[in-house]
Amino acid sequence: MRDYQEEARLDALYQLKLLNTSPTESFDRITRMASQIFGLPVAAVSLTDHDRQWFKSRVGVDHTSIPRDRAPCAQVTASSALLVIEDLHADPYYAESVLGRAGTRFYAGAPLITSDGYGLGALCVLGTEPRQATPRELAALVDLAAMVMAQIELQHAFGHVDPVSGLPTRTQFRDDLIDLARDHPGEQRLAVVVDLARDDQISRITRVLGGARVDEMIREATRSLLKVLKPTRSAYHVGPAQLAFLSPPGIEQVAYLQALQLEFERIRASSSVRFVTNVAIGVRPFVLGEMPADDVLRGAASAAQDARGADGAIALYSSSSDTAHQRQYGLLRDFGTALEMTDQLRLVYQPRIDLTTGRCVGAEALLRWRHPRLGDVSPAEFIPLIEQTSLARQTTQWVVDAAMEQLADWGGTGAAVALSVNISAANLGEADFVQRIQFGLLKRGLRPDQLEIELTESAIMEQPEKAMAVLRELDAAGIRLAIDDFGTGHSSLAYLQQLPARVLKIDQAFIRNLTEPSGPDFVLVETMIGLAHRLGYLVVAEGIETAEAAAILTELQCEEAQGFWFARPMEAEQFAEWLEERQGTPSLLVA
Ligand code: C2E
Ligand code: MG
Ligand code: MG
Repeated sequence: MRDYQEEARLDALYQLKLLNTSPTESFDRITRMASQIFGLPVAAVSLTDHDRQWFKSRVGVDHTSIPRDRAPCAQVTASSALLVIEDLHADPYYAESVLGRAGTRFYAGAPLITSDGYGLGALCVLGTEPRQATPRELAALVDLAAMVMAQIELQHAFGHVDPVSGLPTRTQFRDDLIDLARDHPGEQRLAVVVDLARDDQISRITRVLGGARVDEMIREATRSLLKVLKPTRSAYHVGPAQLAFLSPPGIEQVAYLQALQLEFERIRASSSVRFVTNVAIGVRPFVLGEMPADDVLRGAASAAQDARGADGAIALYSSSSDTAHQRQYGLLRDFGTALEMTDQLRLVYQPRIDLTTGRCVGAEALLRWRHPRLGDVSPAEFIPLIEQTSLARQTTQWVVDAAMEQLADWGGTGAAVALSVNISAANLGEADFVQRIQFGLLKRGLRPDQLEIELTESAIMEQPEKAMAVLRELDAAGIRLAIDDFGTGHSSLAYLQQLPARVLKIDQAFIRNLTEPSGPDFVLVETMIGLAHRLGYLVVAEGIETAEAAAILTELQCEEAQGFWFARPMEAEQFAEWLEERQGTPSLLVA
């Protein structure tokens, strides 16, 4: 007859996925303590498998398991009680056990019991001499066994199940992939990542509808996905809005992908998910045991990114897009170093022109990075990456400092041009941001109106309250503010009206095709300028590349402009020369 109790116990043990995992310090620490407290050479966390005692942690023994038959730990498991054998040789049953025959004389083991009451094994200490155990030693052993259990349950719960979807996490995916690779090495599989929405969509939904709506969306997607996958196969929650699963073995890839696509079409058509997000699916073929779980997921996730760009919302992994992602990881990693070196980062300066007088009234400081291996990397590439990390704050600090140094260098007290610097949304969260700028100006004898801060419309709208507070503070300090890339974000008029910013920079996307005083872009730009003027803003047009655009904008009473038509961004020295030539006022630039 099958022992159902034992089957349930083994199930509980297997569920924890502890067997055959590598040693970990969190358990070894406890085992060492047990050995020290008893002053004995051997201690182990010994788990009772169906036929063996397997050691999750051990000191003083080389082998990783012994047969279950006649193992004292198996008795501890079965009885869920503390067991002390003062002399194995004096015990007719254990004298003949593997341990007894190998010279073990003393044994003490405390049971490892789950919160559901299942005995998993024992925390045991072994000695080669017969001895007794003091009540203090035994109490310590029981405490340490409880610590082992706490560690086991904590490890199992923590990071293995996502609280929102209830699905196993990326950590579990890793563990399961290792198990699978052990059981079926060399088997072809597909990893599929379902990306429920772009990050910016998630943050917008969170902002507009609240985090609960995102959770709900994820739960709904989870339910749909599990229906598609049928109950036997697991899905995982591998990123904030990313679910993943593995294809079954031995499928025909193309047919499988077609079937998947159909299923997802059906989900999309029937669920409310489609109203707020667009799902993208990435697929990564791989061979079990030949690739770490993280690479498998990264490949599938990178394919999902491609799916967003492609038309069909499903994309197969391609190594070229992975190369792009590798580059991004590399850039992020190397930028930290660049900030600390003196020869990789520098500022260039693009003049800002008064459209009525043609005079240069300022310059925008733009960051440049010469990577030691990759050469020049555009800020359009690295800034968006950096802005997703904590490096954003340091970067702004570097830029602001360098710009102020340059101002001071150019002899800041006279009527020299003002410099504009770009800051990131992350700076809005810095309590002392404005003070630090003020201090920097003061230290160098610069006036606050020599510096202008540019913040993009979308950064402002990401955290409107914080933005308002910081912008007010900057304004109060006499530092000028410009809303950058205007027209690309989604600010409301009511909000714009309250902002203490005085300058509005129209994004170059609107200016680029401005060749004649008609057409949709013309109407848009005309409206934007009119609106900005009514709200009291001074308007700067960005990205003027042609005489036509310059003329149209002058006509529309746009006050100032930047663009290749006037000048490209220049090195500091070159800019100073350019300015001298154009304005003929060298004295302004010489200290
Ligand atoms: P932005 O702040 O809107 O800067 C204007 C960008 O437009 C600059 O690109 C400039 O070189 C380019 N530009 C100016 N005139 C023309 C034109 O006539 N035609 C065209 N096609 N482009 C023109 P750049 O230097 O590559 O910078 C790109 C973006 O990177 C900047 O856009 C800004 O958002 C960001 N960035 C640059 N430096 C910094 C920085 O120091 N800090 C932060 N947070 N962001 C920066
Ligand atoms: Mg800018
Ligand atoms: Mg801009």
